[in-house]
Amino acid sequence: MKKCRVCKRRAIVYMPHHRLALCREHFTEWFENYTKKTIKEFRMFTKDDRILVAVSGGKDSLALWKVLRKLGYNADGLYVHLGIGEYSERSREKVEKFAESLDARLIVVDLKEQLAELPNIVGLTSREACSVCGLVKRYNFNKVAKEEGYNVVATGHNLDDEASALLANVLNWNEKYLGRKFPVLEEEGGFVRKVKPFCKLTEKETALYALLEGIDFIEEECPYSEDATSVFYKEILNKIEERSPGTKLRFYLDYLRKVYPKFKTEDKKELGRCKVCGEPTMGEVCGVCRLKERLTPSAR
Ligand code: SF4
Ligand code: ZN
Ligand code: ZN
Repeated sequence: MKKCRVCKRRAIVYMPHHRLALCREHFTEWFENYTKKTIKEFRMFTKDDRILVAVSGGKDSLALWKVLRKLGYNADGLYVHLGIGEYSERSREKVEKFAESLDARLIVVDLKEQLAELPNIVGLTSREACSVCGLVKRYNFNKVAKEEGYNVVATGHNLDDEASALLANVLNWNEKYLGRKFPVLEEEGGFVRKVKPFCKLTEKETALYALLEGIDFIEEECPYSEDATSVFYKEILNKIEERSPGTKLRFYLDYLRKVYPKFKTEDKKELGRCKVCGEPTMGEVCGVCRLKERLTPSAR
């Protein structure tokens, strides 16, 4: 059994991509410091910023909220209640309890009141559930942040999420994606700054942190996640990682360093404003307001 690099006691984890073995106590310390360093490295925010953490009830977003508060950042939570049956009810409970334990403010947006429950919206469109879900979540993160005076939205995306999405987009040579994905996207054109402080931490690492910190997160997957192709790409990357540790992190970091600057487009197309709600949009009416029109045709 390996020994902790810091205290030489029995290690509970070995991270081959960092060539680092740590005990329980020093893993937690390392994890928090590593997050702090990532925040500084990408100049994500400072203690003067007001941060809204998008929480789902899963391990990543709850762990992120906890770490940010432990590090002394001004971070509150936002939960979008999607109305996906029992799954949403249980995740809402977990998030509410967690917010209480942190003694932090939690904002809840109920999709049923805003539009309709997600399964009902999905039934009306030809779009995949995750695409509709992404649309309504992004919309609310941005809108609520501005309305409530937050200047940064933080999400719990980890390295596995980022690297698998990158792999999928490279395989399709999606040039637009390659110029758009960065762990910090500055405020512009009606969008608040968006950051991903866990972008260099693997899913295993965030799961271990959540476990060691006793975070009560929702373990079951969203019923729609089964069709997520991202799971498949994550498995492939893990197989590659097993054979050559460090590949996943290098793949992602080299993209940020070498590829993103080449594809990043400077001609930021001026976005208009939705004539119904005022949120940024390419067209006249934003995607969410268009959904609303379809759900209540007489509202216009
Ligand atoms: Fe939304 Fe899809 Fe995630 Fe479920 S799996 S929460 S529908 S993005
Ligand atoms: Zn130790
Ligand atoms: Zn709108």
